[in-house]
Amino acid sequence: MKTSVMWFRNDLRVLDNPAFFESVENSDQVIPLYIIDANLTQGKNSSSNRNKFLLESLLDLDKSLRDLGGKLIIKSGNIEDIFKELDKQFNVDAVYISEDYTQFSLKRDEFAKSLFKKLNIKFRSFPGRLTVNNLDEIKTGSESVYKVYTPFYNNWVNVKRRDISLIPTQIQTPNINNDEINIHLDQNSISPNLQIGGEANALIRLNEFIENDLKNYSENHDNLFGNKTSKLSAYLHFGCISPLYIESLLDESEASQSFRRQLCWRDFYNYILKFYPDSNKEFQHKYIKLPWKYDEDLINAWKMGMTGYPIVDAGMRELKETGWMHNRARLIVGSFLTKDLFIDWRVGESYFMKMLVDGDKSNNNGNWQWIASVGVDPAPVWRRFLNPDSQQEKFDPDAKYIKKFVPELNDVPIDYISNPGNMTLEQQEKYNCIIGVDYPKRIVDHSKARKITLDIFSEINKMS
Ligand SMILES: Cc1cc2nc3c(=O)[nH]c(=O)nc-3n(C[C@H](O)[C@H](O)[C@H](O)COP(=O)(O)OP(=O)(O)OC[C@H]3O[C@@H](n4cnc5c(N)ncnc54)[C@H](O)[C@@H]3O)c2cc1C
Repeated sequence: MKTSVMWFRNDLRVLDNPAFFESVENSDQVIPLYIIDANLTQGKNSSSNRNKFLLESLLDLDKSLRDLGGKLIIKSGNIEDIFKELDKQFNVDAVYISEDYTQFSLKRDEFAKSLFKKLNIKFRSFPGRLTVNNLDEIKTGSESVYKVYTPFYNNWVNVKRRDISLIPTQIQTPNINNDEINIHLDQNSISPNLQIGGEANALIRLNEFIENDLKNYSENHDNLFGNKTSKLSAYLHFGCISPLYIESLLDESEASQSFRRQLCWRDFYNYILKFYPDSNKEFQHKYIKLPWKYDEDLINAWKMGMTGYPIVDAGMRELKETGWMHNRARLIVGSFLTKDLFIDWRVGESYFMKMLVDGDKSNNNGNWQWIASVGVDPAPVWRRFLNPDSQQEKFDPDAKYIKKFVPELNDVPIDYISNPGNMTLEQQEKYNCIIGVDYPKRIVDHSKARKITLDIFSEINKMS
């Protein structure tokens, strides 16, 4: 009897999962395996929000597999011991995986490949994590790697797509006992209004988005209030939904094109990480010299949403409360941390990684470097130096987003909402918001900070 292992990692779905489909097609029985890796669930980049979402996604995957006649086998511990044991019991023919591109995954797969070679097990890898199959195909005319998004997109959009992979009709799984599921969940740091994981929920969310909000996506996706974006990022991170499947439902309308461009950003940052894995350093090397600050009081005020800039505070509190933050708010708080406070972007990257349910090495690192003006897709620093007041006027003009997440500003009139500190003491009393008591004074002056930061960048540009 030919036995294969389908080793699920960040591809926790049955629909359009080519590795899973092929494992079933090419074997008499399949062991659908998930290995709980303590490096991910307890390591320095782990997150209770993501662990909870992962757990829900595993339970949902198990349900789907049971509907097909199988079940998910969950093991904890060392990859080598787990595969040696399975091979001893079942004489495994092949292990199927979906390719992944972080350094962590690439190293893990190199290790697995050499282990399987020793055990005489075939290693079969398939696309499925990204919208396109093969990042290596996307090269400039001179065969080098793209560093700017738009030309990458122009090439990416024309890459031939594979067919969507169907759900197998039935699977046969041998009877194996599961290890106890041991995923660290720190109840104190789980956001109270977190999205729920799993493929079933991903598909529901996708349908809702397509029915209600896709048609106006280009006009609305920057509006901070009203949930006008897809909110599929965590499902995409864990592979509960396939980006290619999402793309297959888009048409050629402007709204669909605009949404397709977002999916492309995801492929772009995976591409950058694959070809430039040294992601802990500024991609533009001249900026390694930037004299970042590490002021704990400022960092804490930012993390807690207590900066005195309501639009920044609303974003940071959305993150704490829901484990997710609107992209526009991520840009605003990212610019604020790195440009207004001049704090090292890695501080922001690491806090986001701890909190975000969609926290994803490539997307997070790529975006932090982008908004700090030190990464790929370069632009002059002033272009990505966002003014919190004008961002609020543009993207939260009636302050509904602010008032949802910063309730102490509920009674403050719109004219004072971007800077409640401009109210007289009498007004502060009238509108139930005493500055320094109910809501903090601004921790930095935007125009002064802007001048200082632009000068520092300009000095470094002159030297290089
Ligand atoms: C500082 C900063 C940090 C970020 N960290 C992450 C992260 O850890 N994980 C993450 O998935 N996204 C990250 N993003 C990108 C973006 O904010 C989220 O993908 C988006 O807000 C998710 O919401 P959505 O699914 O409703 O997006 P939609 O607008 O509906 O977009 C659809 C999908 O496209 C992809 N996408 C959209 N914008 C981007 C982008 N700028 N970069 C890469 N992919 C994108 C996402 O997979 C998203 O789910 C970050 C952005 C910034 C500015």
